[in-house]
Amino acid sequence: MYKKTQSKKVFHNLDGRFIPNVVMKPYVTMRVGGPAKGLYIPKRIRDLKESVLLCKRDKISLQPLGNGSNIIVPDKGTRKIFVKLTSPFFKKVAVCGNNITCGAGLSLNKFCNIAEKNGLGGAEFLVGIPGTIGGAIIQNAGAQQSEISDILKDIRCIDRSGNLIILMPQEAGFKYRLSSIKGLIIVSATFGLKRCKRATAQKKINRCIKERLLNQDYTAPSAGCVFKNPKTKKISAGRLIDRCGLKGARIGDAVVSCKHANFIINKGKATAKDILNLIQFIKKKVEMEEGVVLEQELEVISW
Ligand SMILES: Cc1cc2nc3c(=O)[nH]c(=O)nc-3n(C[C@H](O)[C@H](O)[C@H](O)COP(=O)(O)OP(=O)(O)OC[C@H]3O[C@@H](n4cnc5c(N)ncnc54)[C@H](O)[C@@H]3O)c2cc1C
Repeated sequence: MYKKTQSKKVFHNLDGRFIPNVVMKPYVTMRVGGPAKGLYIPKRIRDLKESVLLCKRDKISLQPLGNGSNIIVPDKGTRKIFVKLTSPFFKKVAVCGNNITCGAGLSLNKFCNIAEKNGLGGAEFLVGIPGTIGGAIIQNAGAQQSEISDILKDIRCIDRSGNLIILMPQEAGFKYRLSSIKGLIIVSATFGLKRCKRATAQKKINRCIKERLLNQDYTAPSAGCVFKNPKTKKISAGRLIDRCGLKGARIGDAVVSCKHANFIINKGKATAKDILNLIQFIKKKVEMEEGVVLEQELEVISW
């Protein structure tokens, strides 16, 4: 048996890559944040399972990381070890009839392109969301009135005891930008799509990209929408923030986008603290002026 204090060494012994004390800035699209205890990129499922068991034994929190497009790590960092499924094994794709099975590390853009190339429609709404299959399922990512759970057939995950389990979508508690399976590590999923002409899928993809470029802010690093749209109101979070006159509001280099008020962009040297302070400022102002308590979509990684 390994000693508890040797967990870093043991990670080095697993197949894949382990980076200790890793600064997380380059791994999140907002480009802010402090160090994590480590980042592990397993080669295959066997290594992932071993890392899960190792962390369970040593009481280390292991958090999956996709493309980091919906999270920030505080400046002081985190004691967690991130596990990133970017090795080729976790990006595999198999097309069978109208179904596509793919690894959790595959990007949503690649997934959409593969669907289109195979004459399969129904996934176009995901194009341009800069996440991975795993991150998108956990968040139930969506756009254009559709959500990833609409096209899911099953999800394969590793639980905290290292067991491989298969879930049906109805077991995952999907709601608006939410699932109940946080804590599991998604390794792959199958999607059910519909036959369509490639030209039709391509047209839809182009339309989705055009709309994104028109409405969203791609001029600086961001994590997309910071807040969820309120359930009870027919107005979006972005519109509420805009009505409070907050477009352009700034703390350090963290700025409320002038194009999309639900985006906070990093104008260069923003810190996680700047972002978090700006979030609090927006929340307070919207509650005071609009009577709405905004719920965060952006996840802040705990210590
Ligand atoms: C410019 C921009 C535009 C965006 N537009 C949209 C949009 O239109 N709609 C939308 O819904 N979102 C949007 N987002 C937000 C974000 O891209 C999505 O939430 C995306 O699904 C997050 O995926 P990720 O791989 O980056 O996850 P991460 O940010 O890396 O992680 C998010 C959560 O998922 C968990 N996770 C990641 N991988 C796994 C896994 N394999 N197993 C289990 N848990 C996992 C993480 O632990 C974390 O809790 C946008 C972001 C940006 C920057």
